[in-house]
Amino acid sequence: MKIAFIGLGNMGGGMAANLVRAGHQVQAFDLNEAALARAEAAGCTRALSAADAVVGAVAVVTMLPAGQHVAAVYRDAIFPHAAPSTLLIDCSTIDVATARSNIEAALAAGLEAVDAPVSGGIAAAEAGTLTFMVGGEDRAFERAEAVLNAMGKAVIHAGAAGAGQAAKICNNMLLGASMVATCETMAMAQKLGLDPQRFYDIASVSSGQNWALTSYCPLPGVGPVSPADRDYQGGFAASLMLKDLRLAMEAAELAGAAVPMGSRARELYEEFVAADQQNRDFSAIIQTL
Ligand code: NAD
Repeated sequence: MKIAFIGLGNMGGGMAANLVRAGHQVQAFDLNEAALARAEAAGCTRALSAADAVVGAVAVVTMLPAGQHVAAVYRDAIFPHAAPSTLLIDCSTIDVATARSNIEAALAAGLEAVDAPVSGGIAAAEAGTLTFMVGGEDRAFERAEAVLNAMGKAVIHAGAAGAGQAAKICNNMLLGASMVATCETMAMAQKLGLDPQRFYDIASVSSGQNWALTSYCPLPGVGPVSPADRDYQGGFAASLMLKDLRLAMEAAELAGAAVPMGSRARELYEEFVAADQQNRDFSAIIQTL
């Protein structure tokens, strides 16, 4: 299948390479020359512009930083150049309102579209083991699934347009709040004189058990290997967690949802990032607690 791929950064680079491995012909574009060269080395065809990438493609995947980038690429490059019925798959993490309006605009332009944000970081993008949460109509989902299977281990239909983004930010709000709760608990356990490993052994089989504790323990040397064991390098950057918490707060306000824990987690990550910690893994917030 001829697929256009726009946005070949940390995530998109590995994803586009997996489409090539699955036998697709990938027409790739990024504003960044180094990203474009990496994609070419992985077997993608270099496009001269986003519009050029779209010509002749059956599907267009975008993996861009934020809502305004996706809306601009859709408006300026994709809508004027995509053939009728082309399927647009936006895998970026963006706000729910922009995701919905992009899909509405795509349908009005005679195209099909889904929002399909991912769970899993750079390693999962490279390994082809991402989880995709997809919003859109049944037919568009079925078409998208055929493309996304080459880049992920799970492709789940979350609901109508925007539902993928809604699922993504709800999941990451839960992750942000549970990471903060896990960090403050581990710090308090130590202050109460508990051996961290002994407390981990207890909590991991008790009712406090959660993913941040047992799959991503924020203390070095405790639990499975995690970014804490690499001085909080790699993993999921605090700046990306903050981006998702901001999106979650925006969505909560629009929906009239009460989110006191998510809101506090957002404040704590705002402070953490403002203290020049944006590139460290989000579990490093334990050092402030
Ligand atoms: P990134 O900054 O590494 O990549 C984005 C790429 O988009 C860059 O190479 C940039 O040059 C390119 N770009 C920007 N505007 C463009 C345009 N108009 N035309 C063409 N290319 C353009 O970001 P990333 O880490 O790959 O993340 C991409 C998306 O995935 C974000 O929405 C992010 O929130 C989400 N995400 C990231 C992770 C992660 O761990 N990095 C995990 C899950 C989801």
